[in-house]
Amino acid sequence: MQYVSTRAAASAASSSPQHFSDILLGGLAPDGGLYLPADYPQVSGAELDAWRKLSYADLAYEVLKKFATDIADADLRALTAKTYTKEVYRNARAGEKASQITPLRVLEEGRGGKLVLQALSNGPTLAFKDMAMQLLGNLFEHALAQSGGQLNIFGATSGDTGSAAEYAMRGKRGIRVFMLSPHKKMSAFQTAQMFSLQDENIHNIAVDGVFDDCQDMVKAVSNDLPFKAAQKIGTVNSINWARVVAQVVYYFRGYLAATTANEQKVSFTVPSGNFGNICAGHIARMMGLPIDKLVAATNENDVLDEFFRTGVYRVRKPAETYHTSSPSMDISKASNFERFIYDLVGRDGERTRALFRKVDTHGGFDLSGQPGSDGDEFKRVAKYGFKSGKSTHKDRLDTIRDVADDYGIVIDTHTADGIKVAREHMAPGVTMIVLETALAAKFNETILDALGENAARPPGFENIEALPQKFVVMSTDVAKMQAYIAANTGL
Ligand SMILES: *Cc1c(COP(=O)(O)O)cnc(C)c1O
Repeated sequence: MQYVSTRAAASAASSSPQHFSDILLGGLAPDGGLYLPADYPQVSGAELDAWRKLSYADLAYEVLKKFATDIADADLRALTAKTYTKEVYRNARAGEKASQITPLRVLEEGRGGKLVLQALSNGPTLAFKDMAMQLLGNLFEHALAQSGGQLNIFGATSGDTGSAAEYAMRGKRGIRVFMLSPHKKMSAFQTAQMFSLQDENIHNIAVDGVFDDCQDMVKAVSNDLPFKAAQKIGTVNSINWARVVAQVVYYFRGYLAATTANEQKVSFTVPSGNFGNICAGHIARMMGLPIDKLVAATNENDVLDEFFRTGVYRVRKPAETYHTSSPSMDISKASNFERFIYDLVGRDGERTRALFRKVDTHGGFDLSGQPGSDGDEFKRVAKYGFKSGKSTHKDRLDTIRDVADDYGIVIDTHTADGIKVAREHMAPGVTMIVLETALAAKFNETILDALGENAARPPGFENIEALPQKFVVMSTDVAKMQAYIAANTGL
């Protein structure tokens, strides 16, 4: 299996391919594009039948084997077995089996269709990012053990990504994490989750500023190529290919758990921000998984909903980005979207490059086919099954209340966006699976508003805010940040 950049020139296509391990520790391709497989591996009906019986870990092995062809089979099996255990995904609730890793719960079953939740948030940080990040931690450790190298992960977070990365990398040999977050801007729960980690290899840096300041610092340090090379700096952001591919697995699991035969179709609704989660669904569908619709649910930050309704992709300015009660979907542009656009425009790297250059120069592009637009490929979107919808703060509150009243389940704000939008796309005879991307305890402020009572916390999280915290506060001075990193890597 070889990987190509979404911006590769036709003439370079044969010289640039990379293997899975080559792109594991990297981010963007050198030409600024994102990596994708040169061809999507296909899954046969016989394989799907055989996979119905597998544990999550064994299914992950079968799916990943098709993408990570340069990792020894026995190693890959050991890595997936170590990652997807009921001990790691232990935050299953009453009525869920932790051993299923991503258990399904049927919410309703009627003439309008069947509505099902797939729990992706039972991992250590109570959000779906654990699903991929836990594997990434083990893949990194494996790769570094082979090369004898060291990796210093440097990133910025407003909440979920940073904690998922820290819980995945804590205690890992050869790996250190330097995670920036805006000082006093995360929720008390999220702050406690990250800052209570006492592991020596985890460095929490609270920056005096907002999230954009943190991101600017990461960019400044990443653009200093000599520093980056000398300090062995890497990232784990959402464009990382291994994260995307790890997420493909739970679409297979969800489909297989919701059906009894491969003739049956399932749709997925995905609470979306950077398009990483739903991009994995697109890949599963391209592999031949019988997915009917892939529905992107956004909050008030509706860049993706706008595209899937109109064919116009228009990124927002930071000042136009709303701070909402589903904050992990508060994005101004969708960093993984280029992967889908590459497929949509017929895997034409030069055209993809031109479109995303226009994003930089003109703030977006238009594939609606209207006079003056940049193309008419939007008419092909239906072929890929994409649909979308949008949800607001009021919708979230209403949906959290409805679901609690009707089914006795407390869902988080992101999942509420998903259910609100899923209901607009139900079809008789097609099971609709909504991906549950976080547990309610993580976003308790809104649960309290909606229900007048606190969300239940899984065992072990009861007094997390009272634990001792380890972090340093720093200004937005890049030179001081670099000195801090260098002092702590020992390189
Ligand atoms: C990150 C996140 C999302 C958005 O996922 P993308 O891959 O960025 O589309 C949705 N919900 C929660 C809880 C998240 O943490």
